[in-house]
Amino acid sequence: MFNLSHRTANAVRRLAAGMATAAPRIGDTKVPMSLLEKGAYINYQRIEDNLAIVRDRLSRPLSLAEKIVYGHLDDPHGQDIQRGVSYLKLRPDRVACQDATAQMALLQFMSAGMDTAAVPTTVHCDHLIEAQIGGVKDLARAIDINKEVYDFLATATAKYGLGFWKPGSGIIHQIILENYAFPGGMMIGTDSHTPNAGGLGMVACGVGGADAVDVMAGLPWELKCPKVIGVNLTGKISGWTTPKDVILKVAGILTVKGGTGAIVEYKGPGVESLSCTGMATICNMGAEIGATTSMFPFNSRMSDYLNATKRGDIAKYAQQFAHNLKADEGAEYDQHIEINLSELEPHINGPFTPDLATPLSKFAEEVKKNNWPEELKVALIGSCTNSSYEDMSRSVSIVKEASAHGLDVKSKFTITPGSEQVRATIERDGHIAAFENVGGLVLANACGPCIGQWDRQDVKKGEANSIITSYNRNFTGRNDANPATHAFVASPDVVTAMAFGGSLTFNPMTDSLIGSDGKPFTFSEPRGDELPPRGYDPGQDTFQPPPTDRASVSVAVDPKSDRLQLLHPFAPWDGKTPTDLPILIKVSGKCTTDHISAGGPWLKYRGHLENISQNCLIGAINAENNTANKVKNQMTGEYGGVPQTAAYYRDHGIKWVVVGDHNYGEGSSREHAALEPRFLGGLAIIVRSFARIHETNLKKQGMLALTFANPEDYEKVKPSDRVDILGLDSFAPGKNLTLVLRHEDGSKEEVPLAHSFNEGQIEWFKAGSALNLMAAQSKN
Ligand code: SF4
Repeated sequence: MFNLSHRTANAVRRLAAGMATAAPRIGDTKVPMSLLEKGAYINYQRIEDNLAIVRDRLSRPLSLAEKIVYGHLDDPHGQDIQRGVSYLKLRPDRVACQDATAQMALLQFMSAGMDTAAVPTTVHCDHLIEAQIGGVKDLARAIDINKEVYDFLATATAKYGLGFWKPGSGIIHQIILENYAFPGGMMIGTDSHTPNAGGLGMVACGVGGADAVDVMAGLPWELKCPKVIGVNLTGKISGWTTPKDVILKVAGILTVKGGTGAIVEYKGPGVESLSCTGMATICNMGAEIGATTSMFPFNSRMSDYLNATKRGDIAKYAQQFAHNLKADEGAEYDQHIEINLSELEPHINGPFTPDLATPLSKFAEEVKKNNWPEELKVALIGSCTNSSYEDMSRSVSIVKEASAHGLDVKSKFTITPGSEQVRATIERDGHIAAFENVGGLVLANACGPCIGQWDRQDVKKGEANSIITSYNRNFTGRNDANPATHAFVASPDVVTAMAFGGSLTFNPMTDSLIGSDGKPFTFSEPRGDELPPRGYDPGQDTFQPPPTDRASVSVAVDPKSDRLQLLHPFAPWDGKTPTDLPILIKVSGKCTTDHISAGGPWLKYRGHLENISQNCLIGAINAENNTANKVKNQMTGEYGGVPQTAAYYRDHGIKWVVVGDHNYGEGSSREHAALEPRFLGGLAIIVRSFARIHETNLKKQGMLALTFANPEDYEKVKPSDRVDILGLDSFAPGKNLTLVLRHEDGSKEEVPLAHSFNEGQIEWFKAGSALNLMAAQSKN
């Protein structure tokens, strides 16, 4: 018997394809990516073509994650493909932005000089709505408070041809699942829980705004070639166990860092027992283990969901492409995990970290052992993680049973529908009335308490207390800014039942409650409908498609606003050799993007570069005095804050540099960390080593990102030195520059500087930024 190698088999297949010239191609069928967009079609042909090339090169079976990722390669012939090592250049199908991160992304995109985004893009208003007294009033308040931001987003999206989801429409990931996700697609979103779309078989990754701008502007997206973790599901999910418990268990196994740099790929016979929205829950919370994304193979449950959301054509098309929407036989994984769903117990994770996983049967014991506050103050269900119709209908089955025994909730109980469609459907089907009947409070279709938008009044700051949510993140202070709040995470079923128990020690599977008739009862297993039997009710129309006449739209930015500011292009390089530059700060030790651009109260300025630049490097430790935000102004001799000193130099026409240690700019990809030093007049960041994403972000903004060729030269730099940077007149890939250190005592020394600029990136520097270059090119 012949055993053809993959290479030979592919060659035969292509030969056969060549001979059968009339054979239909998958790309002959045109299926729109979304019912809401015209002219943008699913591109399975690209995946098919790319994979033919990649299979030839790799000669091995591919995992599903590899198929979809490599199927979106920009250059399948030339791309170096080594899992966990090389950097891939990819072409995502679409982009999504939430309202908080969209502001700077859109402001930057506007500077690219393009009149529409290169790929379909949507913006979603969900993060800025504070939960206070209930959905309708909270939404009205948010629309008033955030008016200038919403007006900007509404007009900018209209002007540049993007879809705009108004406040009240729902949470970004739920809207994506309902309208835009499709099997085999690739998207990036400026939000960590973008992987939710993996529930529909998409490679969907959370990114920083800079990446979104690149893709919107037509540049490829760079991603470290992901490793692949295979999770094999066997058995069948049932009873109190829900999809949420799969990810709670996986988080316990892999911990918050265990998925870093990897795609978690679920597979095995157990997958068929999960609903599509349940798979989305699992992928969504995969962000908590640091995974690049998580995904499931295409299956009948995805088809059911696509049909229910009126996308039967996509389901049929995916069926034709099913061979590429699952892993190859014999695909290799970097790590393997086995979970038997029939044996999986409900879990409760927390407090303070989502990977502290405790099976429900052991939880009461842990509560006592660890002295966690026993009284359950608030139970919260919903969020983008768990707000499907199935989640809500299962919770309602618990609520109705308690209600039949005459009980109201003991703890406070809030419900956040994930979208207007889910809200309208559960209202029509009587679920909202059932929640309210037992004392539940239905909040706006938005993030609300999940992102700390919660005007919580029932406990004082600093008071130790417990809450339980069906959300995904439970780091200290996330929900209510109270560091003493012990936040636990569980399925909506467990959260709902515990709202009636009122105590963390209540186990709804085994413990009984006393009904109003004085008799004890134990909850039955929750039941619900995977999809609404009467179909979805779309509710209010909250979508703003791009208008036909975009030319007449003007983007609304009030020049007096302190939250939004139009960006002005950075100046191009003046062609001169930089000499006698002061060192703004020589940073000692760790310097993450949080040290460079702090979050917290600064986040409200993320659409206003001048205002947010007032946080530039305020967390970095000055090597001269071991203090944060206190540097010497080399012109005046006075000490001051880092941003103020930087602005002084800039306003006096003096460029400056920063000197940093190892792994400078690690942490979340935050474009502000690169924009701010550039805005304040910086020329170069010179470090022992960079976190790669930050290094690229600096280059995009026209900064010189340079490293000491000999890392020990960092020690030669004195904070009071003036520096020259030699060699820019012949700046070229792979060619070192020279740093001249002019010490205060008049002595000087030279040290070599390495860099990783390629030809294109050198052009960014010369043009003043990548966007400047793009704008110039789009004019030609
Ligand atoms: Fe993020 Fe929570 Fe909003 Fe989901 S609901 S997008 S996790 S803040």
